[in-house]
Amino acid sequence: MAKKAAMSDTETNALRALPSVAALLRDPDIQATTSLSPAGLTELLQRIVAEQRTALLAGQRATRAEIRERVLADVTRFERPRLGGVINATGVIIHTNLGRAPVSPETAGAMASAAASSVALEIDAETNQRGGRMQEVSDLMRLLAGAEATLVVNNNAAAVLLVLSALAAGRSVILSRGEAVEIGGGFRIPDVLRQSGATLVEVGTTNRTYAKDYEAAMDDQTAALMKVHPSNFQVTGFTYAASVEELAAIGAARGVPVIDDLGSGALVSTAPFGLRPEPTIADSVRSGAAIVTASGDKLLGGPQAGLILGRRDLVNRIAAHPLARAVRADKTCLAGTARTLRHYADGTAMARVPVWRMIAATSQEVQDRAERLCARLSHPSAVVPVSATVGGGALPGETLPSAALALDASQVDSGSTDALARRLRTGETPIFGRIEGHRVLLDLRTVLPEDDEALLTAVEVALRPTGSDRL
Ligand SMILES: *Cc1c(COP(=O)(O)O)cnc(C)c1O
Repeated sequence: MAKKAAMSDTETNALRALPSVAALLRDPDIQATTSLSPAGLTELLQRIVAEQRTALLAGQRATRAEIRERVLADVTRFERPRLGGVINATGVIIHTNLGRAPVSPETAGAMASAAASSVALEIDAETNQRGGRMQEVSDLMRLLAGAEATLVVNNNAAAVLLVLSALAAGRSVILSRGEAVEIGGGFRIPDVLRQSGATLVEVGTTNRTYAKDYEAAMDDQTAALMKVHPSNFQVTGFTYAASVEELAAIGAARGVPVIDDLGSGALVSTAPFGLRPEPTIADSVRSGAAIVTASGDKLLGGPQAGLILGRRDLVNRIAAHPLARAVRADKTCLAGTARTLRHYADGTAMARVPVWRMIAATSQEVQDRAERLCARLSHPSAVVPVSATVGGGALPGETLPSAALALDASQVDSGSTDALARRLRTGETPIFGRIEGHRVLLDLRTVLPEDDEALLTAVEVALRPTGSDRL
């Protein structure tokens, strides 16, 4: 008993610094910080106080003032929207961890108004009869890529799974060894094939696969010949990959369709910008792919979506599969995808779609912006030449010449590059750059010019000596 009482004393001592939830609720600084209802704030404070209690009992020492500071910091952190906009100064245009393609203001507007109101999603306004929710995107894709029909789903991973489930379950799909790839985030083509209920028949070798390899593997179980864009890696040297045309010719003789997973799915060529030409969606359709799948938020530059397009009879079969309902696109995605496609239809894609604005900017333009910003920074910094990349699994190994603001961390506070990068990421306008040696590099190619002022302000705040930005 005596021992237990002694423990209790220690505990009581340790917990002396712990404020009560009731006291914190009355704290004017906390009241001024929070947007929560009294009930919500009580709930949050109970959780925070319990965490502080555990820390004190574990032997951490803290004064009452220090604990109050921590509570205030936690309440402040809770207020910060986690999905607010950030500035991508990484030099990777389609950055998956930063949400991939930002959309044009027109697309964002179309998505916001679709979200805020009812939408004639499945009613034809002319006839008041039930109409297809895919009609607008389908009409646009027909114009832009020559596809008979289009179905939009949640993302391209869902598109590939759905297509294989609807067209190949219980049968086999022939794929080159060199294209049995992992796209990222654990999305592996052989696993997806298995999940769909189809059997994978791998042909050829890692570096060379000919049309005759597919032909030799075909039998009455063959549901499709498949091509997958290798996306995030490159095989160079002694290589050969049968083209969509070649496969389409072989398939046609036996009535077997070609499925082409393009991944990035550009509608315009990357060639005029000094990049290797990516096959466009129209190229694939023209080459005879019966079904093409592509992401909406890579080189297309729209919201997250998966596009399934091609032969009408096959698209109808895919749309009728039970999984189609489970992965279907919502009204905001459809409105955003359609609005993005209109940029290509009316010729404004290069001027309005952010991904293409970033690709199309000349290196001189990027350099000039970097120098103008650098000259206005109160802190000594420099402009350095860097290489930006497209990202998003498009054009691995290809780079675009760019310019970066190089912020020298040794001139700031602790001199720690990590600390400076962290301050840039956690400011009011968060900026994500990259660290190179003792410098944080902010690549201007992936920053839209209209964000230059916000970037400058945020950099100034991050470079200020610690303490002066704490109030
Ligand atoms: C990116 C990619 C996918 C997956 O697309 P998400 O839109 O990320 O789901 C599938 N296949 C290829 C070839 C890709 O490049």
